[in-house]
Amino acid sequence: MPPVQPMETDRLDTRLRPQLERLRAADLYRVRRVVDGGHGVQMRVDGRACLNFCSNDYLGLATDPRVAEAARAALARDGTGSGASALISGHNREHRALEDELAAFVGRPRALLFSTGWAANLGVLRGLLGKHDVLVADELNHASLIDGGRLSGARYLRVGHGDVRGFDAALRVAQDEHPDALRLLVTDSVFSMDGDLAPLPELSRLCGERGAALMVDDAHGLGVLGARGQGACELLQVQPDIHVATLGKSLGCAGAFVAGSDTLVEFLVQRARSWVFSTAPPPAIAAAARTALRIVAGAEGVALRETLRAHIAYFREACAALGVPLMASQTAIQPLVIGAEARTLAISRALFERGYWIAAIRPPTVPRGTARLRITLTAAHTRAQIDGLVETLAGAWHDARMSAASPATAKA
Ligand SMILES: *Cc1c(COP(=O)(O)O)cnc(C)c1O
Repeated sequence: MPPVQPMETDRLDTRLRPQLERLRAADLYRVRRVVDGGHGVQMRVDGRACLNFCSNDYLGLATDPRVAEAARAALARDGTGSGASALISGHNREHRALEDELAAFVGRPRALLFSTGWAANLGVLRGLLGKHDVLVADELNHASLIDGGRLSGARYLRVGHGDVRGFDAALRVAQDEHPDALRLLVTDSVFSMDGDLAPLPELSRLCGERGAALMVDDAHGLGVLGARGQGACELLQVQPDIHVATLGKSLGCAGAFVAGSDTLVEFLVQRARSWVFSTAPPPAIAAAARTALRIVAGAEGVALRETLRAHIAYFREACAALGVPLMASQTAIQPLVIGAEARTLAISRALFERGYWIAAIRPPTVPRGTARLRITLTAAHTRAQIDGLVETLAGAWHDARMSAASPATAKA
């Protein structure tokens, strides 16, 4: 017998289809390309060999054989699943060891391991804030911070990107109007689509003056910033009350952690719903992350960060020499703003045909009119690969400008 088909499926699809059509017409439709094999610099994407210049695997650890071997050994020993949430029966020795090592690495008393950065941000914000509390947030914060803030029901004060005076004004309002509330300022450290840094020392000072707590999401800083790779907080010498970072980017694994005081972590264990009601990650992924962390924290990490820094400077100089106007970022995230969605897609496609994979980033990931190529560099790239990219990118950029300029010229 065929399965019973609920009659409402047609009605549901009829509602959804026009929305998909609108996205397609606006060049905002998203599709996935399939990668065969590993997610390193040299990839097979939809069956074609290409060089990846859009991942967050900043140190090349996602395909490091030592990290993979740590996971393989743990899989052979412990199997795959953790079987339950950490509070039921899922908390493995590997999880505990990773939490201890992460806390020590960022210099905080405790850390709590989450399955994803998304879950960490949702769990912290929903867990800590209630409707009488106030969240003060940078307008370009990661979507998970925006959603976590909304879900919490707290009053949400959105501040212009990196606007220290705006933050001061918002904190002042929050202090005057909600003197007894928990007031939390939350910001990305490295903004994921722009590559610039939050003014953390100024924000930290303001929080101190106005009695607010500071939460920093260092997803793109951990492992790559600071002499020891502790991240943006090391580089800028701040110690937030709540320090979030992810393990799926420079550590090449998956997951995230929240570091802070013993009390904070104990509170999250009781109250972070995305953690309490979610199966603990596989022990093997924790074993892999421990090995990645050892590499990041050791002499090799120092060398990898130095290679990455040199690549960033080299890439920026080469682009400047060929008239490619990158944004003013000093991190591994080097966006080239194109503006229109269709043109961004066309350039991305042209680059892909020439063997370079740089995804087109469009709204709602970035504000309207600022569609861009989000180019990322990693320590695993070579100079020759960067040379090839710059030459191809400059060609595609100038071609696109010519074709955009010609109709206007014809009209004039
Ligand atoms: C990637 C990212 C996240 C989400 O982390 P996942 O582990 O991928 O869910 C959160 N915050 C920022 C700033 C990010 O860039």
